[in-house]
Amino acid sequence: MAVESWLRPFSEHRLEVVSILSSSGYYSDLSTVFTRHSHTESLFLNMSVSPQDARSLGHLLCTTTAEVLWQPARGWIRERHPGTLLACRVGAGQATYHRFDPRLRQHSITFGARMIIAKHRPDTAAGWLSSREILNRGYFDGQLSTLNLLAHTCCHEFAHLLQHVAGKRKRGSVHNRHFYEILDNLHASGAAQSVRTTMQHTAPDHGLSLPDQPFAIASSGELLAQWQVGDAVGFGSDAHWREGVVQRINRKTCTVAGTGASHGLRYRVPASMLRRLET
Ligand SMILES: [Zn+2]
Repeated sequence: MAVESWLRPFSEHRLEVVSILSSSGYYSDLSTVFTRHSHTESLFLNMSVSPQDARSLGHLLCTTTAEVLWQPARGWIRERHPGTLLACRVGAGQATYHRFDPRLRQHSITFGARMIIAKHRPDTAAGWLSSREILNRGYFDGQLSTLNLLAHTCCHEFAHLLQHVAGKRKRGSVHNRHFYEILDNLHASGAAQSVRTTMQHTAPDHGLSLPDQPFAIASSGELLAQWQVGDAVGFGSDAHWREGVVQRINRKTCTVAGTGASHGLRYRVPASMLRRLET
Protein backbone atom coordinates (compact mmCIF):
# COMPACT_ATOMS: atom_id res chain seq x y z
CA MET A 1 0.00 0.00 0.00
CA ALA A 2 1.41 3.37 -0.96
CA VAL A 3 2.14 5.72 1.89
CA GLU A 4 0.19 8.50 0.22
CA SER A 5 -3.06 6.59 0.61
CA TRP A 6 -2.33 5.87 4.27
CA LEU A 7 -1.48 9.29 5.44
CA ARG A 8 -3.29 12.36 4.21
CA PRO A 9 -2.53 15.51 6.14
CA PHE A 10 -5.08 18.08 5.07
CA SER A 11 -3.22 21.30 5.46
CA GLU A 12 -1.27 23.41 2.98
CA HIS A 13 1.84 21.55 4.02
CA ARG A 14 0.56 18.18 2.93
CA LEU A 15 2.93 17.60 0.02
CA GLU A 16 5.99 18.33 2.06
CA VAL A 17 4.91 16.02 4.87
CA VAL A 18 3.87 13.16 2.61
CA SER A 19 7.09 13.16 0.64
CA ILE A 20 9.21 13.13 3.77
CA LEU A 21 7.30 10.20 5.18
CA SER A 22 7.44 8.28 1.88
CA SER A 23 11.20 8.20 1.99
CA SER A 24 11.20 5.76 4.89
CA GLY A 25 10.57 2.07 4.36
CA TYR A 26 8.87 1.74 7.70
CA TYR A 27 5.20 1.72 6.68
CA SER A 28 5.60 -0.94 4.03
CA ASP A 29 7.14 -3.17 6.72
CA LEU A 30 4.17 -2.64 8.99
CA SER A 31 1.65 -3.38 6.25
CA THR A 32 2.99 -6.93 5.99
CA VAL A 33 3.00 -7.40 9.74
CA PHE A 34 -0.49 -6.11 10.37
CA THR A 35 -2.28 -8.33 7.86
CA ARG A 36 -6.01 -8.38 8.42
CA HIS A 37 -7.86 -11.23 10.00
CA SER A 38 -11.59 -11.52 10.32
CA HIS A 39 -12.18 -13.22 13.66
CA THR A 40 -11.72 -11.13 16.73
CA GLU A 41 -12.61 -12.18 20.25
CA SER A 42 -11.73 -15.87 19.84
CA LEU A 43 -8.19 -14.78 19.29
CA PHE A 44 -7.95 -13.00 22.60
CA LEU A 45 -9.66 -15.50 24.88
CA ASN A 46 -6.46 -16.73 26.48
CA MET A 47 -4.76 -13.40 26.49
CA SER A 48 -6.05 -11.62 29.51
CA VAL A 49 -4.36 -11.09 32.86
CA SER A 50 -5.97 -10.12 36.17
CA PRO A 51 -5.07 -6.74 37.69
CA GLN A 52 -3.50 -8.61 40.60
CA ASP A 53 -1.28 -10.70 38.32
CA ALA A 54 -0.41 -7.57 36.35
CA ARG A 55 0.89 -5.99 39.55
CA SER A 56 2.87 -9.13 40.40
CA LEU A 57 4.33 -9.12 36.89
CA GLY A 58 5.20 -5.47 37.47
CA HIS A 59 7.23 -6.48 40.53
CA LEU A 60 8.96 -9.09 38.40
CA LEU A 61 9.89 -6.35 35.91
CA CYS A 62 11.25 -4.32 38.84
CA THR A 63 13.45 -7.06 40.30
CA THR A 64 14.67 -8.17 36.87
CA THR A 65 15.62 -4.60 35.93
CA ALA A 66 17.48 -4.16 39.21
CA GLU A 67 19.32 -7.50 39.07
CA VAL A 68 20.01 -7.99 35.38
CA LEU A 69 20.44 -4.41 34.14
CA TRP A 70 21.25 -2.11 37.08
CA GLN A 71 23.65 -4.33 39.04
CA PRO A 72 26.17 -4.93 36.22
CA ALA A 73 26.03 -1.24 35.19
CA ARG A 74 26.08 0.22 38.71
CA GLY A 75 29.89 0.63 38.87
CA TRP A 76 29.96 2.52 35.56
CA ILE A 77 27.02 4.68 36.63
CA ARG A 78 28.50 5.55 40.05
CA GLU A 79 31.85 6.47 38.52
CA ARG A 80 29.94 9.25 36.79
CA HIS A 81 27.37 10.02 39.48
CA PRO A 82 28.65 8.75 42.84
CA GLY A 83 26.09 7.42 45.25
CA THR A 84 23.18 7.16 42.83
CA LEU A 85 20.39 4.72 43.55
CA LEU A 86 17.65 3.01 41.60
CA ALA A 87 14.08 2.56 42.81
CA CYS A 88 11.62 0.61 40.65
CA ARG A 89 7.89 0.66 41.30
CA VAL A 90 4.60 -0.52 39.81
CA GLY A 91 2.11 2.23 38.96
CA ALA A 92 -1.65 1.77 38.77
CA GLY A 93 -2.20 3.30 35.33
CA GLN A 94 -0.54 2.99 31.95
CA ALA A 95 2.27 5.44 32.57
CA THR A 96 5.68 3.81 32.22
CA TYR A 97 8.72 6.03 32.58
CA HIS A 98 12.18 6.80 33.97
CA ARG A 99 12.85 9.85 36.15
CA PHE A 100 15.91 11.17 37.97
CA ASP A 101 15.63 13.07 41.23
CA PRO A 102 18.86 15.09 41.59
CA ARG A 103 18.16 15.93 45.24
CA LEU A 104 17.87 12.29 46.29
CA ARG A 105 20.38 11.24 43.59
CA GLN A 106 17.85 8.60 42.74
CA HIS A 107 16.74 7.10 39.45
CA SER A 108 13.22 5.77 39.47
CA ILE A 109 11.53 3.54 36.92
CA THR A 110 7.75 3.12 37.00
CA PHE A 111 6.02 0.25 35.23
CA GLY A 112 2.30 0.84 34.78
CA ALA A 113 0.05 -2.14 35.61
CA ARG A 114 -2.30 -1.17 32.78
CA MET A 115 0.65 -1.12 30.38
CA ILE A 116 1.32 -4.74 31.41
CA ILE A 117 -2.32 -5.67 30.80
CA ALA A 118 -2.25 -3.93 27.40
CA LYS A 119 0.80 -5.91 26.33
CA HIS A 120 -1.10 -9.18 26.79
CA ARG A 121 -3.31 -8.59 23.75
CA PRO A 122 -2.22 -7.97 20.17
CA ASP A 123 -4.83 -5.27 19.62
CA THR A 124 -3.87 -3.23 22.66
CA ALA A 125 -0.13 -4.02 22.43
CA ALA A 126 0.03 -2.65 18.90
CA GLY A 127 -0.34 0.93 20.10
CA TRP A 128 2.80 0.94 22.20
CA LEU A 129 6.18 2.23 21.16
CA SER A 130 7.78 -1.04 22.31
CA SER A 131 5.83 -2.92 19.61
CA ARG A 132 7.10 -0.51 17.02
CA GLU A 133 10.68 -0.83 18.28
CA ILE A 134 10.63 -4.64 18.25
CA LEU A 135 9.20 -4.71 14.71
CA ASN A 136 11.15 -1.81 13.29
CA ARG A 137 14.56 -2.61 14.78
CA GLY A 138 14.29 -6.39 14.73
CA TYR A 139 14.75 -6.86 18.48
CA PHE A 140 13.99 -10.45 19.60
CA ASP A 141 13.88 -11.46 15.92
CA GLY A 142 11.10 -8.95 15.39
CA GLN A 143 8.58 -11.13 17.23
CA LEU A 144 5.81 -9.57 19.29
CA SER A 145 4.79 -11.57 22.34
CA THR A 146 3.94 -10.60 25.90
CA LEU A 147 7.30 -11.90 27.13
CA ASN A 148 9.26 -10.03 24.46
CA LEU A 149 7.29 -6.81 24.95
CA LEU A 150 7.73 -6.77 28.71
CA ALA A 151 11.42 -7.74 28.58
CA HIS A 152 11.90 -4.98 26.03
CA THR A 153 10.05 -2.49 28.24
CA CYS A 154 12.65 -3.04 30.99
CA CYS A 155 15.38 -2.37 28.43
CA HIS A 156 13.63 0.71 27.02
CA GLU A 157 13.31 2.36 30.44
CA PHE A 158 16.82 1.33 31.47
CA ALA A 159 18.14 2.82 28.21
CA HIS A 160 16.63 6.13 29.36
CA LEU A 161 18.53 5.75 32.65
CA LEU A 162 21.82 5.15 30.80
CA GLN A 163 21.00 7.99 28.40
CA HIS A 164 20.54 10.31 31.38
CA VAL A 165 23.84 9.21 32.95
CA ALA A 166 25.61 9.79 29.63
CA GLY A 167 24.13 13.31 29.49
CA LYS A 168 22.31 12.58 26.22
CA ARG A 169 18.74 13.15 27.34
CA LYS A 170 17.65 16.38 25.69
CA ARG A 171 14.38 18.19 26.16
CA GLY A 172 12.15 17.65 23.14
CA SER A 173 14.15 14.74 21.68
CA VAL A 174 14.02 12.00 24.24
CA HIS A 175 13.98 9.15 21.72
CA ASN A 176 17.00 10.47 19.87
CA ARG A 177 19.92 8.83 18.09
CA HIS A 178 21.85 8.39 21.36
CA PHE A 179 18.90 6.69 22.96
CA TYR A 180 18.65 4.14 20.14
CA GLU A 181 22.42 3.54 20.19
CA ILE A 182 22.06 2.56 23.84
CA LEU A 183 18.95 0.47 23.25
CA ASP A 184 20.52 -1.32 20.25
CA ASN A 185 23.50 -2.04 22.46
CA LEU A 186 21.38 -3.55 25.23
CA HIS A 187 19.99 -5.97 22.65
CA ALA A 188 23.24 -6.65 20.78
CA SER A 189 25.20 -7.28 24.00
CA GLY A 190 22.81 -9.99 25.17
CA ALA A 191 21.53 -7.96 28.12
CA ALA A 192 18.01 -7.88 26.68
CA GLN A 193 18.12 -11.64 26.16
CA SER A 194 19.20 -12.09 29.81
CA VAL A 195 16.24 -9.99 30.92
CA ARG A 196 13.93 -12.13 28.80
CA THR A 197 15.37 -15.44 30.06
CA THR A 198 15.34 -14.32 33.69
CA MET A 199 11.70 -13.24 33.49
CA GLN A 200 10.70 -16.42 31.69
CA HIS A 201 12.38 -18.60 34.33
CA THR A 202 11.30 -16.61 37.37
CA ALA A 203 7.62 -16.05 36.52
CA PRO A 204 6.49 -19.64 37.31
CA ASP A 205 8.09 -19.37 40.78
CA HIS A 206 5.50 -16.69 41.53
CA GLY A 207 2.65 -18.59 39.92
CA LEU A 208 2.70 -16.24 36.94
CA SER A 209 2.75 -16.93 33.25
CA LEU A 210 4.46 -14.82 30.62
CA PRO A 211 3.21 -15.98 27.22
CA ASP A 212 5.92 -16.20 24.56
CA GLN A 213 3.70 -17.25 21.62
CA PRO A 214 4.00 -14.65 18.87
CA PHE A 215 0.93 -12.48 18.51
CA ALA A 216 -1.44 -12.86 15.65
CA ILE A 217 -2.22 -9.56 14.08
CA ALA A 218 -5.13 -7.24 14.45
CA SER A 219 -7.42 -5.57 11.91
CA SER A 220 -7.80 -1.80 11.76
CA GLY A 221 -11.17 -2.04 13.53
CA GLU A 222 -9.53 -3.81 16.47
CA LEU A 223 -6.64 -1.39 16.42
CA LEU A 224 -8.96 1.62 16.39
CA ALA A 225 -10.98 0.30 19.34
CA GLN A 226 -8.19 1.22 21.73
CA TRP A 227 -8.15 4.93 20.87
CA GLN A 228 -10.20 7.76 22.31
CA VAL A 229 -10.48 11.40 21.41
CA GLY A 230 -7.82 13.28 23.35
CA ASP A 231 -5.24 10.44 23.43
CA ALA A 232 -1.65 11.58 22.89
CA VAL A 233 -0.18 9.66 19.96
CA GLY A 234 2.90 9.47 17.81
CA PHE A 235 3.43 8.13 14.29
CA GLY A 236 6.08 8.04 11.59
CA SER A 237 9.58 6.65 11.39
CA ASP A 238 12.52 7.48 13.63
CA ALA A 239 13.82 10.48 11.73
CA HIS A 240 10.34 11.80 10.89
CA TRP A 241 8.42 11.05 14.03
CA ARG A 242 5.26 13.16 14.47
CA GLU A 243 3.22 13.71 17.59
CA GLY A 244 -0.33 14.87 18.16
CA VAL A 245 -3.67 14.36 19.83
CA VAL A 246 -6.52 12.17 18.51
CA GLN A 247 -9.26 14.51 17.34
CA ARG A 248 -11.68 12.06 15.72
CA ILE A 249 -11.90 8.32 15.16
CA ASN A 250 -12.87 7.44 11.59
CA ARG A 251 -13.73 4.10 10.03
CA LYS A 252 -10.11 3.07 9.34
CA THR A 253 -8.08 6.04 10.49
CA CYS A 254 -7.79 8.60 13.26
CA THR A 255 -7.70 12.30 12.64
CA VAL A 256 -4.76 13.65 14.60
CA ALA A 257 -4.07 17.29 15.46
CA GLY A 258 -0.33 17.82 15.46
CA THR A 259 1.46 19.05 18.58
CA GLY A 260 5.01 20.31 19.12
CA ALA A 261 6.84 20.56 15.80
CA SER A 262 3.63 19.53 13.99
CA HIS A 263 1.46 22.15 15.69
CA GLY A 264 -1.19 23.52 13.32
CA LEU A 265 -1.17 20.43 11.07
CA ARG A 266 -3.83 17.74 10.90
CA TYR A 267 -3.27 14.18 9.74
CA ARG A 268 -5.42 11.21 8.83
CA VAL A 269 -3.40 8.33 10.26
CA PRO A 270 -4.12 4.62 9.71
CA ALA A 271 -4.78 2.66 12.89
CA SER A 272 -1.73 0.44 12.42
CA MET A 273 0.60 3.43 12.46
CA LEU A 274 -0.58 5.04 15.66
CA ARG A 275 1.58 4.61 18.74
CA ARG A 276 0.73 5.54 22.27
CA LEU A 277 3.26 8.03 23.55
CA GLU A 278 5.57 6.32 25.98
CA THR A 279 8.08 8.42 27.86
ZN1 LIG B 1 10.99 6.17 26.08
